[in-house]
Amino acid sequence: MEKNHGLLIVLSGPSGAGKGTLCQELLRQVPNLKYSVSMTTRSPRPGEVEGVHYYFRSQKEFEVMIAEDELLESAQFCDHYYGTPRFAVEQALQLGQDVILEIEIQGALQIKKRFPQGIFTFIVPPSLDILSERIHKRGTETEEVIQKRLATAIQELGYVSEYDYVVINDEVSEAVNKLKSILVAEKCRVKRKPFVFKGGV
Ligand code: 5GP
Repeated sequence: MEKNHGLLIVLSGPSGAGKGTLCQELLRQVPNLKYSVSMTTRSPRPGEVEGVHYYFRSQKEFEVMIAEDELLESAQFCDHYYGTPRFAVEQALQLGQDVILEIEIQGALQIKKRFPQGIFTFIVPPSLDILSERIHKRGTETEEVIQKRLATAIQELGYVSEYDYVVINDEVSEAVNKLKSILVAEKCRVKRKPFVFKGGV
């Protein structure tokens, strides 16, 4: 990513931390921000739309994408594959758009290697009890899958030190304000922006 290219923002955190809600709010409130639609081998949940929430693909199709180096990162999460299509992200960044990836930790670590200048933000729920309550309330997974996701969440919390920022998602509006502040601060970094002082220095 060179100067004047868009920012790459990575949001990670346990399933049920509320990343999706925060992401949607950010997209609504922040101009010039593009959501990277991921590819997955899991089945669509009720209401999920192909090309909007995910590109739903078979495992075979997913493997072809990996073999052809068309994914920026990919990971296995609770028995399914997830990955970030490369083209849309690279194109948007080159056009100066900011791009947000909502991905789990293994994928975020791969992105960190490729884009160390990305902004890595970890979203955590206020407590494990609240996390469990949120996943149950969603009502889209079986109890077995929920237990798997909760066990994965506990492991994932151990990776927070790999990230630049951590945001506790208690009140959505407060968490969104924190994320917006992070973006504003990152855009002011001298290393991201050529500083030209009118009248010369
Ligand atoms: P869900 O099945 O709940 O939509 O997503 C499960 C997990 O996969 C979430 O933590 C979500 O952030 C993550 N995820 C979604 N898309 C991607 C992706 O493209 N790559 C990676 N590595 N993880 C993803």
